[in-house]
Amino acid sequence: MKNVPADMEGFLSLQPWWRTEVPTEIIRSREGVGELLHRLEKEKKNPFFVVDSVLRNQPVFAPLFGQEALYLFDASASEPKTGDVDTVVSIVKSRTTSHDVVVGIGGGGTMDLAKAVGICLANPEPAHVYQGYGLDMKKGADIWVLPTLSGTGAEITPIAVLRGPEKKLGINNPYTAPSVAVIDPGLTSGVRKYNRFFTLMDCYFHHYEIMKSATSSGDAVSDALDGLFLSKGILTSGVEEFRMDNAVRSAMASILGGSSTIGGRVGAAHAISYGLSNSAPTLPHSVAVTIAMLSLGDIYPDGCEDTITFLRINGMETPKARDFGIGADDVGKMTKTALGMEKLWQSCFGDSWKERATEEYIRGVYERIVSR
Ligand SMILES: [Zn+2]
Repeated sequence: MKNVPADMEGFLSLQPWWRTEVPTEIIRSREGVGELLHRLEKEKKNPFFVVDSVLRNQPVFAPLFGQEALYLFDASASEPKTGDVDTVVSIVKSRTTSHDVVVGIGGGGTMDLAKAVGICLANPEPAHVYQGYGLDMKKGADIWVLPTLSGTGAEITPIAVLRGPEKKLGINNPYTAPSVAVIDPGLTSGVRKYNRFFTLMDCYFHHYEIMKSATSSGDAVSDALDGLFLSKGILTSGVEEFRMDNAVRSAMASILGGSSTIGGRVGAAHAISYGLSNSAPTLPHSVAVTIAMLSLGDIYPDGCEDTITFLRINGMETPKARDFGIGADDVGKMTKTALGMEKLWQSCFGDSWKERATEEYIRGVYERIVSR
């Protein structure tokens, strides 16, 4: 990838850098909060805001906390649950005016909650009924987002990942995609190093797995290669402090993460991570994929090596499954969950996936993970 901008000026004047067609209007801005509110007013929208409560202490977000139609989501406590979606849907429905747009402001979890609320407003069942693929759903409220953490790609993907009573699985539907995303890299300045690091790690894993995938489209692979280059550059330069050049590159890599997901598919590390997530409600997704990648040196040798390098350069401790309460007792259940991720194994191994992603192989990966 050539001519990567190092500052906001360069970012704003850059031509679109993704190839895959995306359903979202991407607005780049140096005044994201103001631009979002101005645009809502100009289009005479009646918004309902879903905002990460961690942003409360940052003055730049104060205009959002003055809104009356507001739900504060504590994204640090857990990834969004289907029950959270049901709660917010009932709050929005009980209001005296009807809201035509749900605006999500925060990281991937907060945006996913807003996305799920947006579509579920027009669909009568509880949210967990809609976890899955290809379900017949009506279009709900418009969904707009303002990311305050870069790397998840949630600002453009038609997926809202939720923890349900039985499983962690997304609502996957075209009406779950944001129609507008306002991107202001400067808004990520308040993110803690731990979150910045692991979110970028997940960004790297997405690009890495899509690049290696046997089933991704050509455009998705090209987007993934650029995203890999950007995320690798940031993770190698260190994420300790906020730097505008890295913030710009992260915002670009995040959008590529979303665009490459539209035509591409992740692979084995994500399949293994879902088993881990299902056994540990407090384990963040990005940490789960890191743990998975560290045990997949046999199929992703360079990805595994990079992961070790990024942890070392950034002075981060190697995460362990046992720190999140996962032990030998969980291996059977985790193996069953991961075995069910057929599309991801197909993406990883191609046509011969059934011979390679066997129960025995997957069990072996989890045994390595819990013995660390
Ligand atoms: Zn991921």
